[in-house]
Amino acid sequence: MALTGIEIFKLLAKTNCKECGYPTCLAFAMALASGKAELDKCPYVSEEVREKLAEASAPPIRPVKFGMKEGVKTIGGETVMFRHEKTFFNPTIIAGLVTAADADKKIAQFNQLKYDRVGLLLRPEMLVIKDTDGDAGKFAALVKKVMDGSDAALTLMSDKPEVLKAGAEVAKERKPLLYAATPGNADAMGALAKELGLPLAAAAKGYDDLAALTTKLTGMGLKDLVVDSGTRTLREAFQDEVVIRRAALVPKFRPFGFPTITFPCEMAKDPLQEALYAAVFIAKYGGIVVLSDLQPHVVFPLLLERLNIYTDPQKPMIITPGIYEIGNPGPDSPVAVTTNFALTYFIVSGEIEGSKIPTWLLIQDTEGLSVMTAWAAGKFSGDSVAHFVKKCGIADKTKTRTIIIPGYSAGISGDLEEELPEWKVLIGPREASHIPAFLKSL
Ligand code: SF4
Repeated sequence: MALTGIEIFKLLAKTNCKECGYPTCLAFAMALASGKAELDKCPYVSEEVREKLAEASAPPIRPVKFGMKEGVKTIGGETVMFRHEKTFFNPTIIAGLVTAADADKKIAQFNQLKYDRVGLLLRPEMLVIKDTDGDAGKFAALVKKVMDGSDAALTLMSDKPEVLKAGAEVAKERKPLLYAATPGNADAMGALAKELGLPLAAAAKGYDDLAALTTKLTGMGLKDLVVDSGTRTLREAFQDEVVIRRAALVPKFRPFGFPTITFPCEMAKDPLQEALYAAVFIAKYGGIVVLSDLQPHVVFPLLLERLNIYTDPQKPMIITPGIYEIGNPGPDSPVAVTTNFALTYFIVSGEIEGSKIPTWLLIQDTEGLSVMTAWAAGKFSGDSVAHFVKKCGIADKTKTRTIIIPGYSAGISGDLEEELPEWKVLIGPREASHIPAFLKSL
């Protein structure tokens, strides 16, 4: 059971030494209870108290990690029901199902699905390798093939512990998820996951059985669990996702405090229907969504949906302020300035690139606000733009002394000319799509 701030406070040193960065032990305790502080920040916590507090300050849904060939993917660790309350932290993993019969095709599909969008790499991250004939040797060979052919995080699926063990030994460096312990095989699967130190899926139908199963597995010393409510109809599975999330967050019901795995691939035969089901589980609250196939026209919209849901609503997407060279500009190339809202940057830089006119693009820090908002908030004023132009060093890179400002900020041109007497200010177009014609007309 989680401890309250006051209960945590009673366990602290109560010296108010401030070394944790908080003014008092009580403030630190409150921050710890609400998940905003890390226990390690206080150096005066005994081992015994540390153990107690680590449990209390653990997120209500345990983060579970999987290795890719390079890097780690995490699911779980969420603290809210709704994104607007704070943010969602660890995006749903999009996974494709692989069997011996279609391994080559699935690996090739998986490797192709990489999209660069607003400076981020969007892609599925996991392959779920399913045992279809209960042969440990063949399963190990299939796992090796997938390991060699892709950098994917892995889930290994079999109802036979000896088959899972053979695959897991091949894949253990990627820390695969073992699927799955059920009420019927929990002892053997739990022992296997414990022996190999791997995360384990717990699958049971009905909330009581699922809670009993995770309680049994945690009692065996397993911490990294992923739960499957076992239902394979949309309505029930959707309900299960909401119930599990709510139970984990509101009463902090520990048996449900784990991320989930969902199987649209087992719920629909029609690919479009399967994609819609996957979209539902990305929104609510699948940790892993398993697709039967990785078709680009299905996966791409799901990746975009995921990107939107898992961006922090309190933080605008921003670009680092500075000088960006578009198309290898020289000393006579035009100079343009805009804000550091990521979408503004990507749209403007895309249009400049499309114009084939090499240009210096100055990105000013407006705390992620777009041009009109930044202008209205006084963060893209004649003064601030002039200060940035002087400070960024563009005058050393170019002989040009004409600066193009966005059409929507035409009102700053007078102030800017006053602040930058050596520069001529040109008012650019209001719409980004008119930038190529504007640059060509210079
Ligand atoms: Fe209290 Fe520890 Fe913070 Fe010092 S570092 S104020 S003892 S919580």
